[in-house]
Amino acid sequence: MNCVVSTIPERCKRCYCCVRECPANAIQILNGQAVVLASRCVGCGNCLKVCTQNAKSVRDGISPLLLRLAEAHPHEKVALLAPSFPAAFPSTDPLRIVGSLRALGFTRVAEVAFGADLVSEAYRAHVAQCSDPVITTPCPAIVEYIEKYNPELIPNLAPIVSPMIAAGKVMREKYGQDAFLAFIGPCVAKKVEILDPNVADVIDEALTFDELITLFADAGIDPAEQRAAEFDAPRAYLGQIYPVSGGLLKSAGISSDVMDEEVIVVEGRQRCLNMINEIAQGKVNSKLIDILFCEGCINGPGMSSPLNYYEKRESIISFVKSRHRLLDQAEWHDSIEEYRDIDLSRVYEDRRIEERVPEEREIQHILLTMGKRESEDQINCAACGYVSCRELAIAVAQGIAEKEMCLQYTIDNLERSHLELAEAQAQLIQTEKLASVGQLAAGVAHEINNPLGTIVLYSHLLLKQLKEMDPAQEDIRFIIAEAERCRNIVSSLLNFARQGKLVLSEVSAEDLVMPIAAMIGKRDEFSEIDIDVQVDAKLPPLYVDIDQMKQVLLNLAMNACEAMPDGGTLRIVAEPASTPRNFLVRISDTGSGIPKENMSRLFTPFFTTKQIGKGTGLGLPIAYGIVKLHHGQITVQSEVLKGSTFTITMPMDLRDYPAAAQMSPRELAAALSPLPHNVHPGK
Ligand code: SF4
Ligand code: SF4
Ligand code: SF4
Repeated sequence: MNCVVSTIPERCKRCYCCVRECPANAIQILNGQAVVLASRCVGCGNCLKVCTQNAKSVRDGISPLLLRLAEAHPHEKVALLAPSFPAAFPSTDPLRIVGSLRALGFTRVAEVAFGADLVSEAYRAHVAQCSDPVITTPCPAIVEYIEKYNPELIPNLAPIVSPMIAAGKVMREKYGQDAFLAFIGPCVAKKVEILDPNVADVIDEALTFDELITLFADAGIDPAEQRAAEFDAPRAYLGQIYPVSGGLLKSAGISSDVMDEEVIVVEGRQRCLNMINEIAQGKVNSKLIDILFCEGCINGPGMSSPLNYYEKRESIISFVKSRHRLLDQAEWHDSIEEYRDIDLSRVYEDRRIEERVPEEREIQHILLTMGKRESEDQINCAACGYVSCRELAIAVAQGIAEKEMCLQYTIDNLERSHLELAEAQAQLIQTEKLASVGQLAAGVAHEINNPLGTIVLYSHLLLKQLKEMDPAQEDIRFIIAEAERCRNIVSSLLNFARQGKLVLSEVSAEDLVMPIAAMIGKRDEFSEIDIDVQVDAKLPPLYVDIDQMKQVLLNLAMNACEAMPDGGTLRIVAEPASTPRNFLVRISDTGSGIPKENMSRLFTPFFTTKQIGKGTGLGLPIAYGIVKLHHGQITVQSEVLKGSTFTITMPMDLRDYPAAAQMSPRELAAALSPLPHNVHPGK
């Protein structure tokens, strides 16, 4: 279904004002954009009035009109001018507008107000014979609203066509079915009405006054410069007063006295909605309710007059008075008699909008995901365009709104994103640092390795040449020891820089853990340490880089050993992890523990608490990097003077992660980047 109103996406600034002001919940927010739902829209044009960004547009009536006016066919081209037109052109003699329409190409210009005269008679007759409240309205937005949202009130709607249709029928009778009829008025809903199947085929096109102003400008017609011209017959009488409040009643000769409780005049969006609601609830006893969606048609959405409400009213009344002075009443009566037999009846249709009513569970879930756990979190600020948080949640469930419309939710999300961004930035800086350290390490290590080898070689040669008791021997041995220490550092640097490729192979957990336990068991440093190894027999074969994983276990075991200078217990446990297809290796010691302030720096390269010469500060970063390459995690729990536990958790089969064996230098650096949240200090 085509909609008469739509959003211009590039202009929409997502203020949700139109959502708030739409009486029919007809504006869906989809990917942040306001979209008008044709099936729900009643064409009231309220969204046009409230959008400060001019992001709403009305279906174009200008192009089809120009095509019809340009046709060579000799049929009549009739402009049906709504009675509010003097307010739309306040600085121009109203009859010059008639002349301007002729200059535009219309062969006839007729008054819709004559249709109002006919309709008024029909209203009077209908009201006289009804006992239930009658809703009289020339307003298609009200008709659409009742048909879609309160169809139970259809029997209350006076079954009479609008003045536009009545005037159209008069023109059809006068000029035939071939005539082209264009309504011009302040109303957007008329564009909907001309397509209503129950009154269709009468009016061919509906334009707003704003469109007429554009047409005049495009055609170079200045109404003030055109000759005044008279309307074509039949002339109108009291129907000319329809656009002002109570005009319908005055025209129909029905009392609009405030003391008369039988009649109510209701205008304006919210008052209309309240009244419809009240009638539906059986709370209204009046006999006649005259309703208009706007504050009178003189405030219709298709008329951007500079005048205020009272000035518009005044301009119409003054035009009507001037016309009535010149009106030939007898001629008018003759016209009414001439067209009295025109069928002004119509039917209405139940076009009820079936809305899905979401279950309470679904509404609560949406509220929860919007961070509205408690009732006090539902602040009902209406910034989203809905009257309450709950209403927004219902609209989200119905698919016509988005959670992001909630200002509070969006601000919370923004704050979270901001924090995540800050963390990511910090990590990026760390990553960049590590990437540079890796490159530097590789370069320095390469340059130093060869001279170091030469120093060691020649020192040994020198040592051999010295006599047994030569005091220089001790110096040479010191040189050799220090050079060897340098080579160890260089080798660690190369290890740190070399990580990035995994060579995967199948290995049992026992073949991974037991050789390390056997190796360290023979080393002097472990002579005072009990080594306890438990490998769960349920563990299936693993698919990892066995050499690199051995390096990890060795580094962690050495770390544990250094934490127990006076001996203790080293426990290595390998077993399935709680995450499916993952295993863990836990390495615990009963040593000195790690102070809280050092926990977050444990995996930072070159961080060491050992004396100079006793450690490179690369053992744990290397272990961390290798575990990350295996898509695993290392967590640490430690208590000072009680000991530490390092737990590695990683997938059993790295073939499930095809990218694992291929990492770019940047990914490697990211993998090596220690994340403090992996570290859990003990109590
Ligand atoms: S009123 Fe509606 S269309 Fe206009 S800017 Fe706001 S959200 Fe967009
Ligand atoms: S024309 Fe009226 S009903 Fe349609 S979307 Fe705009 S405000 Fe809602
Ligand atoms: S009140 Fe008048 S201008 Fe407004 S929607 Fe109804 S008929 Fe159109």
